[in-house]
Amino acid sequence: MPALRFDNAFVRDLPADPSTAPGTRQVRGALYSRVMPTPVSAPRLVAHSREVAAMLGLDEADVADPAFARVFGGNALMDGMEPYAANYGGHQFGHWAGQLGDGRAIGLGEVVTAPGQRWELQLKGAGPTPYSRTADGRAVLRSSVREFLCSEAMHHLGVPTTRALSLVATGDAVVRDMFYDGNPEAEPGAVVCRVAPSFIRFGNFELPASRDDIPLLERLIDFTIARDFPDLPAAPGEDRVEYRARWFAEVCERTARMVADWMRVGFVHGVMNTDNMSILGLTIDYGPYGWVDNYDLEWTPNTTDAQGRRYRFGNQPQIAYWNLSRLGAALSPVFPGPEHLEAGLKRYVDVFVETDRRHTAAKLGLRECRDEDLELMDALRGLLQEHEVDMTIFFRALADVDPAAPSMAPLPDAFYDDAKRHHAEPALTDWLARHAARVREDAWTPAERRACMQATNPKYVLRNYLAQQAIERATQGDDAGIHELLEVLRRPYDDQPGREPFAGRRPDWARHRAGCSMLSCSS
Ligand code: AMP
Ligand code: MG
Repeated sequence: MPALRFDNAFVRDLPADPSTAPGTRQVRGALYSRVMPTPVSAPRLVAHSREVAAMLGLDEADVADPAFARVFGGNALMDGMEPYAANYGGHQFGHWAGQLGDGRAIGLGEVVTAPGQRWELQLKGAGPTPYSRTADGRAVLRSSVREFLCSEAMHHLGVPTTRALSLVATGDAVVRDMFYDGNPEAEPGAVVCRVAPSFIRFGNFELPASRDDIPLLERLIDFTIARDFPDLPAAPGEDRVEYRARWFAEVCERTARMVADWMRVGFVHGVMNTDNMSILGLTIDYGPYGWVDNYDLEWTPNTTDAQGRRYRFGNQPQIAYWNLSRLGAALSPVFPGPEHLEAGLKRYVDVFVETDRRHTAAKLGLRECRDEDLELMDALRGLLQEHEVDMTIFFRALADVDPAAPSMAPLPDAFYDDAKRHHAEPALTDWLARHAARVREDAWTPAERRACMQATNPKYVLRNYLAQQAIERATQGDDAGIHELLEVLRRPYDDQPGREPFAGRRPDWARHRAGCSMLSCSS
């Protein structure tokens, strides 16, 4: 293994929990606890991302070295690693939950690469920490496969996200009651190494604020701005309040872009608690997330959310706003009044609306978004929802509809139900005619329009049933399904002849199956 250069600013510059005793505890006055990963029986590398390895300065031979699986399974440290678990709180399902912290994530350190980028490495499932509460600190293979694949899929889709370097099977069993019905079962365990410039969450700020520890809050704010926002330097003569206000607005802006992208590709996070919101506006904590098959703004993949549907597809923009308001409330002690925070929240709304307009135009193959185009999109959403139409297939195939002679001919694969397709025909044909008329008003060549649509409407997304199939094969000892999927998802906007089965609609068997249409939080 080559030597990576570590510069562990988080543990160096911020106050640590003085205790390193085992066991869980409330940790006050400190932003993290030092803790070692707990070794596993037989670490085995199941998959890795070659892009992330290269980004960190690791080549394929380094990854193949048995030392790699030892380090990223939690059995060894590289020189310069200083493991820790972060201390944070959060609002879960709308309620303040107090201290949460990294209960099964362990930060290893911050790699600084040759081009000068900083990347935090973090193991998920590496054993108990002071924040594990009543749980075991471990993760099952099924949820680890999902986190590994989706992190990389989102990156290749151009959606801001934490990355995944590796997926290591531990050789140890983990017991989970997947359906919370009193039937716990032993499942294979795994560890994912996540990679991001920062793993700081909204909840990191909320916890010291909730305890009225304003000096600690201010240290974290100043640290975060300095380390994680190098492109946001203080303007000459700018006072501290103005600078921090610009930073909050930047967080709001990034969050808006991220959520607008989720809506564009049909991603539903499933657990948008404030401890799962990255200060960098990255998609983080892939748990019971899901991908929309038939377009449905009401759908939530998370069984725990089935009652209230707080985290349903169509509610994500509102929830992100609510979460930013909670962050704003936590930051309010360092602002003299509410104006600065209100301005940040307004930035969220403005950037979301503007980005959503851009996406609307691009998805429909229009050069710009006029106000009437928003109505056109709304009308389409209504039709897709009512007639059970596959979101990804529909938008991808829309580029094949001829504006000179619009018809439903390119769209048969987008329907889940023949009767519904039949029923949809008059209204959808009418909509396609309206859309074609609008397209003809633009001065784009067909090739330009098609290129724009295909760069915005992916062909390949990580449909829930695809992930589930790869998981079932991996559970039987066949990792190839994970590798195949990763390969396909590296180029989601390319046609990839021969790989069409990965772009098909959800099969009937997957409609109500666990792991395919609904996901448990148990992971
Ligand atoms: P999540 O819903 O995954 O964001 O987790 C919420 C909180 O529960 C976080 O503090 C996690 O670290 C903690 N947690 C989740 N699963 C486990 C586990 N298996 N062991 C320890 N802590 C966990
Ligand atoms: Mg979490």
